[in-house]
Amino acid sequence: MSVPHRVRVVGAGLAGLTAAHAVRRHADAAGVDVDLRVLEASDQVGGQLRTVDEDGVRFDWAANAFRTGAGPTADLVARLGLEGERLEAKKAASKRFILHGGQLHELPSGPGTLLSFRPMSLKGRLRIALEPFVARRVPDEESVFAYAARHIGAEAAEVLLGTMVRGVYGGDVRRLSVDAAFPVMKTMERDHRSLVVAAIAGAKERKRVGKTTWTFRGGMQQLLYALADDLNAGAPRDGAADGPADGAADGPGGGAGGGGDVVRLNAPVSALARRAEGGYTLATPHGEDETADAVVLAVGPQVARTLVADAAPDLAGALDAIPTGHLAIATFAFDDAAFERPAEGYGFLVAPSEPVDVLGALFESNIFDDRAPAGTTLVRVIMGGAGRDDVVAKDDAALRETALGVLDQALGLREAPKRAWTWRQPYAIPQYELGHHDRVAAIEGHLAALPGVQVAGNAYRGVAVGAIVEDAERLAERILAHAHAQGAGAAPAAPAGVAA
Ligand SMILES: Cc1cc2nc3c(=O)[nH]c(=O)nc-3n(C[C@H](O)[C@H](O)[C@H](O)COP(=O)(O)OP(=O)(O)OC[C@H]3O[C@@H](n4cnc5c(N)ncnc54)[C@H](O)[C@@H]3O)c2cc1C
Repeated sequence: MSVPHRVRVVGAGLAGLTAAHAVRRHADAAGVDVDLRVLEASDQVGGQLRTVDEDGVRFDWAANAFRTGAGPTADLVARLGLEGERLEAKKAASKRFILHGGQLHELPSGPGTLLSFRPMSLKGRLRIALEPFVARRVPDEESVFAYAARHIGAEAAEVLLGTMVRGVYGGDVRRLSVDAAFPVMKTMERDHRSLVVAAIAGAKERKRVGKTTWTFRGGMQQLLYALADDLNAGAPRDGAADGPADGAADGPGGGAGGGGDVVRLNAPVSALARRAEGGYTLATPHGEDETADAVVLAVGPQVARTLVADAAPDLAGALDAIPTGHLAIATFAFDDAAFERPAEGYGFLVAPSEPVDVLGALFESNIFDDRAPAGTTLVRVIMGGAGRDDVVAKDDAALRETALGVLDQALGLREAPKRAWTWRQPYAIPQYELGHHDRVAAIEGHLAALPGVQVAGNAYRGVAVGAIVEDAERLAERILAHAHAQGAGAAPAAPAGVAA
């Protein structure tokens, strides 16, 4: 008789659901019988990826888009039958701005716009033009600042990269590792030496793979609902054991599907313990424990460390070493006429030198169609980041005041917004600081104490949603390797607890 390999995924954010989906696909392909379940603490799937859909207004609280072409994300979308639901960014969104010296400036998109880019001195701008002549390869790990200063000069490193690092990570250009936070930059240097040369080659490559900025008509959460539906639909009808808190993921993407409930909501896991007979027990506060042969902890290091604190204290310590920034977000719906100067393009990032508590603002209604009724401009303002817990601790009224103050400075506000929403995302953005690869290697090393356990999510191998989808394939391969090592699916079953 075939004994299913019990795989439990903790967390139904993007990392957990894509890992579960990839595990099922790899298991099906390999003919391995897997008993799969995803345990989610909250009452909905998606984690940070939450789409607000109210009165003709639609926006995401976290990632609003993928920036990918052909590859694992496109493959996943095709497998889920969501290709027709893709929504490409509007052409007008290609312009991006920086708030510097209290004013908006268009970010340079080529040599012409660079020459007229006022936030930098003429000397600083000319230094960028010298890049192909001074560029060299440096194999050692560097901060983003050190790397950028070598290539395009200290001023551009500060103004351009400093601003971008705040926009992507809410972090500090001198602390983040270019190797970990922006590996593509290191690859550009390795392959072409000069970033200018690499950028020209990169533009051709982006065209070749069809890399664009896109989302789903229903927002990013549509993908998460589709993943949950597909997982639930694919489970055997009688395959779901009784759980403490069943309830299939529900949402605009559909309902529970026809099968068992693979995705369990309101199912927080409070601890992971090794079983004497092999495998693991996942404890829940309700006392209805789950047993597993393999576990994917897709919950973020600050939660994962509490789950493994007793079973693997060294692993808990290693997970503690990844710093994370909290974020606060305020979204506003304005009449178009509310601005003295038009809200143009994708939005703006705030230069590190500006004395304001805002990282940037996205003009959501400029980016995708159908995000707001005609005549309404939808703006999402992001605040907080690494070392700025004080900003995230502000109350809603103070956060909105901070955000509106910066919008007033940038665009000139004639009138108050018609509607406002506020959201806080604790532990939102892990900081890939210098030494990040070593920290992740230490975590991987300590995971050896828990055979069959993996960590997933934005803290380890990429914060971007595309990177998380890509990582799911790697995780699934590892889970399947462990299953094979345990003889899963074979008859008679291998003794439980045989480590991979
Ligand atoms: C404001 C903001 C803007 C962003 N913008 C972009 C962008 O433009 N582009 C981009 O690529 N990325 C962006 N990101 C990042 C991206 O959204 C995240 O990296 C990604 O969504 C994280 O997914 P995850 O699955 O790793 O974690 P999460 O989404 O945090 O999922 C973890 C899940 O685990 C659950 N959980 C926690 N504890 C337990 C427990 N004990 N038991 C069971 N379940 C538990 C949580 O409820 C949650 O559902 C942004 C993020 C934020 C906050």
